[in-house]
This record gives sequence, structure tokens and C-alpha cells, in this order.
Amino acid sequence: MADAIRNAMTGIFDSNYPWICSILLLIIVILLILIIARMCTTSNCISPSVTRVDFRTYRLPSGIHEPKVHRTAAAPASGSNASSQFVSSVTQLPGSVNMPETTPLLSENVKRMIESIQCYQERQESGGCGLVNFANSCYINSALQCLCHIRSFTDIILSIQEKYQRHLTPISSAYAQLLTKMKSLPRSSTTAYELKACLSSVNQRFSTADQQDSHEFLTTLIEAMHDELMDNYQDGSIDDLMHGTIRSVVKCNECLDESYTDQSFLSLPISVHQSETTTSLSGMYQQFAGFLSAFIGRSISLDDCFERLFSVEQLNEGAHWFCSKCQKLTKVTKTFHLEHVPRVLILQLKRFSNDLTDDTKVKTKVSFKHQLDLQKFMNRCELAQSWLYTLVAVVVHEGTLTSGHYTAFARHLDNECWHHFNDEDVSPASSKKVLTSDAYILVYERR
Ligand SMILES: [Zn+2]
Repeated sequence: MADAIRNAMTGIFDSNYPWICSILLLIIVILLILIIARMCTTSNCISPSVTRVDFRTYRLPSGIHEPKVHRTAAAPASGSNASSQFVSSVTQLPGSVNMPETTPLLSENVKRMIESIQCYQERQESGGCGLVNFANSCYINSALQCLCHIRSFTDIILSIQEKYQRHLTPISSAYAQLLTKMKSLPRSSTTAYELKACLSSVNQRFSTADQQDSHEFLTTLIEAMHDELMDNYQDGSIDDLMHGTIRSVVKCNECLDESYTDQSFLSLPISVHQSETTTSLSGMYQQFAGFLSAFIGRSISLDDCFERLFSVEQLNEGAHWFCSKCQKLTKVTKTFHLEHVPRVLILQLKRFSNDLTDDTKVKTKVSFKHQLDLQKFMNRCELAQSWLYTLVAVVVHEGTLTSGHYTAFARHLDNECWHHFNDEDVSPASSKKVLTSDAYILVYERR
């Protein structure tokens, strides 16, 4: 029998039928792959790595379903005792596994799971509407999620809507309607298509289906609503809320005379270049330095960025200023102060160059905190006034300038619960995840 098989195989492999030989080899390879894949799947059930499931990164399909959770009748709504009772009644989450009770990582995972479930519950109770992505509209969606989670701005828009009702101007009306719709659809999603169409009349750039800058959309929308309300009703409430003033002070090194210029801002641009040395480099060397920094994970803090922005700057050698007091060209120093800061502070981390030919993105990691104190950067210290801000929203950009994706983190208006808004998908997010994100826009609000 064995001899017969050997003879048959020899016949086949004697190149009389090379195509049969190829097919047989292919089948053997496929079978091997299937066996290996099966073994891997089976071993995952007991692999310790599976116990490292991060429940906070678990995302619900379409952002509208919740994990199947049911409480026992005796379980209280909150508290540590509630947690243990609560976890014991959690049914199998999609993708979750039965974990050994003695695993050290279990307690951490359980905590994360509790946090995740509590956030889902809060979302069910109080809202979290996704926005559908229509033709590269993630830049719009992220900006809008950011804006509608600013409490003071939302309050103003809703009061304006109530005040002017049917006579509300087009863009403000479209935004107010979207805001109302999002509030009424806490477990679903909607689209911002009508608002985009309205805003396209102000900026043609938004009329195409191309990806655009989320920051530009955000500031264009705010300015458009401000202009509409000022032109039609002399209503400056958006201006009072969101515009600040930065003062540049030029000081003569000889007579110490000062002159200043005030400039209004809706958004404060923050340079995130790592060092002056890096910025003075050029071409390939600068790119290499940037790559190296990104590779080794170098970062800069937001506080450092502010310190640099408001530090004293000696103007370059050869740059002279005509001093009206000395009546001659003199050397000067230049400093910036915040003359007035708005209640809502928008910070744009300058990751993109204004030069259209420069498509490199500054990928410096910027560390930031939930609290931001601006007192030391103010021109005047009014003790009665607090300069302490709280982070309320973050727009994140991932990828490159030509091929990227925008998402947003935002804190719920009624609680401390953060959510990640990835177009129509909405998922709970931990505080740590927010602070370690690749932020592009930060929104702080003074309470
Ligand atoms: Zn002078």
C-alpha cells in the first residue's frame, strides 16, 4: 500500500503534473494557516494578556447601544458597596472574557469597567449625541461637539433662540436648531449638513467635500454668529463671552519708554515647537530633529508654551525701533500680556504652518491639565477676579496634514463625565485618556 502511494506521488512530482503539485502545496499551506489561527483563538481564552482588556476603550457600535447591564433589586445607585454588587450582575460584554478572580489586574479592570458603565448610564440619562460623517466632515463634527459642550456658549445660544425665535438669523438659527436636536437625541446621532451649507455662504472653503481645518470651521462659525447678531440686533453677547485682548509692549532699552498695541483674539495660537534651537534650524535637519523628538517621545507642557509666549523678547540684532522720546532708532524689548481674557478660552496648538507649501505637522506632545491658571500672564491683577480655567473640550487630530482624522473629547454639561466623540460613535473616556490625547484645540472655561 505504502509503495503504491509512494509510486503515485513520485509520478505526480515527476513533473508530469506540475499544476497538481502547486495546488497540493497551496492546500497544505492553507490548512496550516487555519490550524495555527484556530490554536491562537483557543489560547486567547486563557491568555493572561486578555485580562488586560481596557474597558474604557471599548466602543459601542454606532454610539447608540449600551452594554447589557442589570441591577439586582437590592443594589443601591452608588457607593462602594453598590460597585461590588453592580459588577456581579454585569452580563457578558461583547468581546469580554471570564477572568480569573485572583488576577491582580482584575481589580483595576473592574474599576475601569465600573467607571465605563457608570458613564454609559449617565449618558443614557443626560445625553451624548453623535454626528454622522458625511463626506470628510469629521473636522465639522469635532468642532461642533467642542462648541456645544461649552456651557456658557450653549446658554447664550438657547436664550438668543428664545428671544428672537422665528426672526433669528440663518447661521445662528441653523446652529440653535442643531443644538436643540442634539439635546433631544441623547442616545442617537444626527447630521450637521444644513449648518455646513449655511456656513458655506460665509466661507466657500466649506462648500466642498474636502477635509478642512477644524479650528477654522470653529472660529468661522463663532464669528459668523457674532456678526449676524451684531448686525441685526446689536447683540454683543458672543463677543463678551469669547473675545480676549492681547497686548504687545515695546520698551526702549535706552529711555525705558513703553508703547503698546492691543489685538483682539477669539482663539489664542500657541506655538508648540520644542525649543528655539529647533526653530532656528532649517530644512532636512529640522525635520530630522522633529522626527527624533517624536521617536523618543519628547514633550512640552502647556505651561512652558505660555511662559515662552509671554517671556521678554530681545529683538534681533539689526532690528531697530524708532523711539519717539529718544527721537532716534534704538534697540527694544518686546513682551506680551493678556489684557483681557474671555470667559471661554480657545487655544490652538500650532501644529500646521500657514505656509501652504509646507505640509509638515508638528507632532510635539503637549502635556496639559484640567486646570489652567492665567493670573501671572495678566497685565493687571484684579484680586477679585479668578483667572482659573477648567478644561471642557479637546479637538484631536491624528494623522498627517494631508490625510488625517478629527475627533473630540468633551465634558458633559451636567457632570464630570468625559466622552469621546468620533463622528456618530460616542464612548466614555477616562480623564487620563483626555490628557494624553494628541490635542489640536483646547477649550477652557472660567466658571
Ligand atoms: Zn527711547
